[in-house]
Amino acid sequence: MKHLPFHRSLPLFLSAVLATTGVLLFSTTASALHSWGSYHWARTSNPFTVKLGDNLSAAWDPYLATTSADWSVSAVLDTNIVTGQGRKNCRATNGRVEVCNAKYGNNGWLGIAQVWVSGTHITQGTVKVNDTYFNKPVYNTTAWKNLVLCQEVGHTFGLDHQDENFSNVNLGTCMDYSNDPTPNQHPNIHDYEQLEIIYAHLDTTTTLASNTAQTGQDIDVSDPPAWGKAIEHDSKGRPSKFERDLGNGRKVHTFVVWAD
Ligand SMILES: [Zn+2]
Ligand SMILES: [Zn+2]
Repeated sequence: MKHLPFHRSLPLFLSAVLATTGVLLFSTTASALHSWGSYHWARTSNPFTVKLGDNLSAAWDPYLATTSADWSVSAVLDTNIVTGQGRKNCRATNGRVEVCNAKYGNNGWLGIAQVWVSGTHITQGTVKVNDTYFNKPVYNTTAWKNLVLCQEVGHTFGLDHQDENFSNVNLGTCMDYSNDPTPNQHPNIHDYEQLEIIYAHLDTTTTLASNTAQTGQDIDVSDPPAWGKAIEHDSKGRPSKFERDLGNGRKVHTFVVWAD
C-alpha cells in the first residue's frame, strides 16, 4: 500500500497521541483545540516573527506592548512592533498585521480582527479597536483593553476562541469571552499549545513580510454584510465570526467582539 488514506491514519495517530499523553490530553481536549481552520502563516522555519504595524495613538501603545510580549512567549513565534502604515482606514499590508484605533462609531463592536488567507496560508491581517466604546468608563480599563487587543491579535495567528460563553467560569485566557475581563487579559498555556500544533509543520515558502506592498482588498467595517456570511455565534446569539470568499482561493475572515 502506497499510503494510508488520511481518514484511516487519523485514528491511529490519535490513539498514539492518547497513549503517550494520556490523562493530560483528556483534561485539556475541550479547550486545547481552538484553531479556526488549518490557517497559518507560511514560513520556512520556527520561531518566526510576525510584524505588528503600530497605527495606535499613544494611549494604546502600552497595551500593544503587553500583547506583543504576551504572544512572543510562544515557542514557535515572536512578534515585533513596527511603524504602522495603515493610515486612516487601517489598510492591510501584505505579509504583516496592522493594528489601529479610532472612534469607529456606535456600530456595536469593541474590536475586530480581519485576516486574509490564500488557500490555508494567512497573508495579512488588521486589528481595530473602537474608541467610541473604549472611551466610555465601562470599557476604559486596562483589563478590557488587554483582553480585546490580545484576542484580536491572537486571531491573526490562526487561533479561535477557547470559549464563547460570557457567563461561565473564566479560562484565564484572552481567547475566552467573558463579562469580567480581569482574569482573561493574557494568553494561557492552551493558546501556546495550540500555536505549537498549528505551526508544527514547515512550509517551503513564506507569507510573512518580505515586502510592504499594500495589496489587501479593503473590507468596509461599517458594513457587516460586506464581511460575508456569519459562521460562528457567541452565547448571546450574536455573530462572532464571518467569512467572505474573495475568489481564487482567497478569503477574508472577520472576528468581532461586541460591546454590550
Ligand atoms: Zn503551511
Ligand atoms: Zn474573537
